[in-house]
Amino acid sequence: MLDMIIIGSGPAGMASAIYAARAELEFLVIEQSVESGGQVQQTYEVDNYPGIPGVSGPELSRRMREHCDKLGVEFKTEEVKSVEKVGADADADGKAGEYFLVKTWDGNEYCAKTVIAATGASHSTLGVPGEDVLQGMGVSYCATCDGAFFKNKVVAVVGGGDVAVEDAIYLSKLCTKVYLIHRRDEFRAASTLVSEAKTKENIEFVLSSGLKEIRGNNKVESILIENKKTGEVKEEAVNGVFIAVGIKPASELFTGLAKANEGGYLIADETCETSCKGLFAAGDIRAKQLRQIITAAADGANAVTSAQRLL
Ligand SMILES: Cc1cc2nc3c(=O)[nH]c(=O)nc-3n(C[C@H](O)[C@H](O)[C@H](O)COP(=O)(O)OP(=O)(O)OC[C@H]3O[C@@H](n4cnc5c(N)ncnc54)[C@H](O)[C@@H]3O)c2cc1C
Repeated sequence: MLDMIIIGSGPAGMASAIYAARAELEFLVIEQSVESGGQVQQTYEVDNYPGIPGVSGPELSRRMREHCDKLGVEFKTEEVKSVEKVGADADADGKAGEYFLVKTWDGNEYCAKTVIAATGASHSTLGVPGEDVLQGMGVSYCATCDGAFFKNKVVAVVGGGDVAVEDAIYLSKLCTKVYLIHRRDEFRAASTLVSEAKTKENIEFVLSSGLKEIRGNNKVESILIENKKTGEVKEEAVNGVFIAVGIKPASELFTGLAKANEGGYLIADETCETSCKGLFAAGDIRAKQLRQIITAAADGANAVTSAQRLL
């Protein structure tokens, strides 16, 4: 029986592994991808992780993985299929007799006293021409991460929820102009946010409109916007496109085990303890304010510290 299984090897999973190794726990990391790093692998440049400004995502991932390897962390390249709690009522104090059974699609089964859910999240895409090929070259899914690269430039934000409007407000402080493109007339975002956005002179609201195409040669140069009511298509010159049409946490494995909020994020405070004893949520999967590499890594450290108290 292992002390711990860490599922996922993004920054949350790898920070967990570093803390677990240094605490001399018996554990392993299960990661479905042959490469560690999670979303960081998709990041062209990371400029907000302390100590290594401008590092590329693959390089930061490689350094984190090397750190784990140096500490002798065991990684299994497998996709987890299910996580069950076995013997949940074995003991009145909720400790002895309980363990987690983790099954993978390869047919393997692993048992551990605790599990760290570090399976992250993924951004929804629009699927329009140019989006995929220009990702990291002007197409971004994270204004906090990439906004600073667009200082004094013109950008578009696509979406109608809180994140889109918040991103537009944030970018309006850095950029000369921000197009806020939303397919409906009304925003889903909180009215206070929409009111604040309306006070920004450099935000242009482009409503009832959809982004049809992102154009550019190795960098974003323009976008095609289609008015849904009139069918009119116009081209606007922009340097960047921020797509804020939703994030989905990879929390299906834990549905039924731990409480999640309406967005599917596992509910846990800074201790990372979920409503299921022994299951800890670290990184983007956790309900929290800011989803970044630094907050994911911090969660990994906190989750292991909490788990140690239980073990
Ligand atoms: C394009 C882009 C740019 C970004 N830029 C920045 C930036 O500049 N600065 C910043 O701080 N943040 C940035 N972020 C956000 C940051 O990458 C995330 O907040 C961070 O990676 C979250 O870490 P995580 O470990 O929680 O999850 P993830 O990075 O999502 O890692 C989760 C891991 O779990 C694995 N996994 C999932 N399901 C299973 C399963 N069933 N079995 C086995 N393994 C599984 C996945 O393969 C993945 O490796 C960016 C994100 C994106 C998408």
